Amino acid sequence: MLKWIARKIFGNRNARVLKKLQPQVDQINAFYASYQSLSDEQLKAKTSEFKARLQDGETTDDLMCEAFAVVKDACRRLKESANPEENTVTVTGHPLRWDMIPFDVQLIGAIALHQGNIAEMATGEGKTLVATMPLYLNALTGRNVQLVTVNDYLARRDSEWMGHVLKWLGLTIGCIQNNMSPTQRREQYACDITYGTNSEFGFDYLRDMGMATSSEDLVQRDYFYAIVDEIDSILIDEARTPLIIAGPAKVSTHMFDKLKPIVAELYHRQYQLMANLLQEAKTTLADPDATAEAIDEAYLKVAKVQLGMPKHKQLMRLMEDPSIRKALDRKDIELHDDNNRGYLQRVKESLFFGISERNNEADLSEKGRQFLRPGDPDAFVIPDLPTIFSEIDSDNTLDEAAKLEKRKQAQMEYDKKSEIIHNISQLLRAYCLFEKDVHYVVQDNKVIIVDEFTGRPQPGRRFSEGLHQALEAKEQVKIERETQTLASITIQNYFRMYDKLAGMTGTAETEATEFKSIYNLDVVVIPTNRPCLRIDHNDRVYKTQREKYAAMINEIIECNKRGQPILVGTISVEVSELLSRLLQRRNIIHNVLNAKHHQSEAEIVARAGQFGAVTIATNMAGRGTDIKLGMGVKEVGGLHVLGSERHDSRRIDRQLRGRCARQGDPGSSRFYVSLEDNLMRLFGSDRLTSIMERMGLEEGEELSHSMLSRTIQGAQKRVEQQHFAVRKRTLEYDDVMNKQRGSIYELRRNILVTEDTRDLLLNYIYTAVSERVESAFASRPRQEALDLTDLKDWLARTIPVGFAPETFTHHETEEALSQSIMARIEEAYNIKERAETPEALRWLERYVMLNALDNLYQEHLYAMDSLRQGVQLRSYGQRDPLVEYKQEAYNLYASLMDSIKDEICSNIFRLSMVNPAQIEAARAAAKQEAAQKKNARISEIHESLQAFAGLEETREQNPSGAAIAPLRREQPKVGRNEPCPCGSGKKHKLCCGR
Ligand code: ADP
Ligand code: MG
Repeated sequence: MLKWIARKIFGNRNARVLKKLQPQVDQINAFYASYQSLSDEQLKAKTSEFKARLQDGETTDDLMCEAFAVVKDACRRLKESANPEENTVTVTGHPLRWDMIPFDVQLIGAIALHQGNIAEMATGEGKTLVATMPLYLNALTGRNVQLVTVNDYLARRDSEWMGHVLKWLGLTIGCIQNNMSPTQRREQYACDITYGTNSEFGFDYLRDMGMATSSEDLVQRDYFYAIVDEIDSILIDEARTPLIIAGPAKVSTHMFDKLKPIVAELYHRQYQLMANLLQEAKTTLADPDATAEAIDEAYLKVAKVQLGMPKHKQLMRLMEDPSIRKALDRKDIELHDDNNRGYLQRVKESLFFGISERNNEADLSEKGRQFLRPGDPDAFVIPDLPTIFSEIDSDNTLDEAAKLEKRKQAQMEYDKKSEIIHNISQLLRAYCLFEKDVHYVVQDNKVIIVDEFTGRPQPGRRFSEGLHQALEAKEQVKIERETQTLASITIQNYFRMYDKLAGMTGTAETEATEFKSIYNLDVVVIPTNRPCLRIDHNDRVYKTQREKYAAMINEIIECNKRGQPILVGTISVEVSELLSRLLQRRNIIHNVLNAKHHQSEAEIVARAGQFGAVTIATNMAGRGTDIKLGMGVKEVGGLHVLGSERHDSRRIDRQLRGRCARQGDPGSSRFYVSLEDNLMRLFGSDRLTSIMERMGLEEGEELSHSMLSRTIQGAQKRVEQQHFAVRKRTLEYDDVMNKQRGSIYELRRNILVTEDTRDLLLNYIYTAVSERVESAFASRPRQEALDLTDLKDWLARTIPVGFAPETFTHHETEEALSQSIMARIEEAYNIKERAETPEALRWLERYVMLNALDNLYQEHLYAMDSLRQGVQLRSYGQRDPLVEYKQEAYNLYASLMDSIKDEICSNIFRLSMVNPAQIEAARAAAKQEAAQKKNARISEIHESLQAFAGLEETREQNPSGAAIAPLRREQPKVGRNEPCPCGSGKKHKLCCGR
């Protein structure tokens, strides 16, 4: 009922939106008609006319209808032109006849994009062309407008293709490709419109903000308006992978190699245990004389295997029997029943560890801990540092030096223990949850991730948080040095920087809530140009994968006999290869694609609509390429699409179906499902069992039941929700970083672009001084004399300048004292300045500021990394790790700000450019550092999927009440004139620091 109402409202809203856009479409067409009489030159002159009108105060909204009409008329002229220079464009090396004039529905899409919405337009509706209109309009402002594509090939294709009409109208078009140098990139961004992939844009941002050492190094110029093509793929599927630039860590602390043998042994023991349990259970179940009690006992054994090794091959076999499945479901309910508290716990304790496939977690039991660290019950209890520290501090028998030494020891012990616990848990995950040739492959002595969406190997990507090293230990290949984050951002936060964002895709509607809540983007569903004729057949469901694949092959052969082209979509490379082998055996000629070579695959996919073609493709292969039907194909029903299983989300199913029946063509689609598919196994409900029972058990028999399709949908919704929760969680954590990153990058940019480095530098010093003065005043007891000892100590430590006692006599007000100290510092600085060459000093000023910022920020990122891992280990009663994280992050940031200023104060006086040797040394050091940064292995790191989803489990696992504070510095404080770290944009003293 509710759903029905929602659909009704949503439907109505969409209809209202569309209705509102109609008059504007009419207006565009009226302008279009009136432009026909203009000469080419007059039409082209519109571009500069619009630019001038924007200068004079009109807005892009005011100009929209005219500008879109200009683009439409330009398209018409190119199409009708007899000049081959105009009517033909070279796209990725092939000549292409320009034959497009936007349809009315495309105009509607263009308006939706200009207004910052997501335009949902089915595959083949011509979204590439739609984007040209808002791109043109928004680029007239002179700011850099961007179009984001899913791969380099599409960026190039679309920029060349659409560049044809945009250039004709006098705009410049750029395209970012992976192998471009910074100079080339800068040229591309300097264009009016720039095409590129999301990761190129994101990494350019990180390099600009975090690594450029002079303003000439910056390549991007604007974050104004971006249209994201295939927006669901980029903002939803890819959003779980933050972009990370990483360099090798300075120190290596892991113990994967040392711990591997024992964890391997543990895994082996569990395996044996499972095999034995299964054997015993099978014997009992096969025994006709077994008592009810014995049978129940046997099912408990099987249930244990489910907990301890859910993918055990023999277990999977057993589960094919519906009666066993049913009994197990009952066992499962019994185990999780609230009236049976402690039962599950006891069962788990009989195993070495438990595995939760859903949460992607492996959970050590007491028995497992005993095995790993016999006779050392404390091995897995993390010491409670704050308590230990306070005990040390209140121990009067110790002098300061001894206290410091004890603290150091406690810290070291703590670090070592948490490293061991962390390493063991990652090794366990590596053994239990990550399968070779499914999640990763081993090539050339390296562990290479297999992308879960495209199924293709991703050299250079690494799982984060040590998981990758754990896999390297497991596979006995070289364990790479751990990496340290130099800069990172999530795709979500990157795109939230833009003034205006828009997107287009064939499938956004099911994710409309997420787009709204995270990006504030509305989805507008645009009607198709011609009615869609696609027939979506009911799913065919089988008990086992074996039966499913056999049935698929039969259907493929049937279509092939008729000559009907067929496209088979698979989730993984593994399945596409399996199907390919089965087809080979039956002598069916076919193509297999797995998104490895974008260009050649695009060309093959484009031919998938030819008579008799059979194409097997993983999800992303050839996405964005349009499949045209060959001769005689309409007569045999158009393209037929087969899905080898239902995907994790309904959206991807729709995407696959959408590959056929474009632009009013005939076409059809069908999905195949087996109860062994991951989706069904993990998220299908217990109804499955009863359904299975009612069905026959004949090999190869198809199960068709109306309830099944509801079960499938239910399972998909559950996965969608879980993934949404993970993305949201990642984002919540990144939000904290994001605010800090924003402030730091702004400071950094300021240092890079400022003309007056001297002024900026003295400003930093002044802020530092006045804050210290302020705290001296603040700590003064009422009516008593000011104690300046701390202030003087600080000055002596950080600013190597002699201060006469008179400097400190002006202390009527904070202001007066700060001024007086500052006057002395400036005096000293002037003397220094006279001794140096001004040009060299300006260079030094910038260098000192950047250097302080970069080095300390990097340390800060490192601290934030360990904080993020640290909060997950916490089990403060009811406390929310996210809240803890925010608080600690705030403290860390505050002390970061303090240290940066101190570092600047002390370095500027210590370094001098007078001494030629020192100049050389400083420049050489700067150069080397810059080179190092350039060579820092820039790798996109794959955040382990459930980085935060398993928080609850982690808590259970550490009942020690461990609380830790990684790298907390004493007395954190934000400068009062600094931007507040809460991200309000106000100065700290006017915000949280009040
Ligand atoms: P989408 O991205 O929406 O799936 P594309 O932009 O790849 O679709 O376009 C699909 C096909 O439709 C292309 O071959 C393109 O040439 C064609 N096309 C798009 N718009 C028009 C138009 N207005 N008139 C004629 N053909 C068009
Ligand atoms: Mg497209």
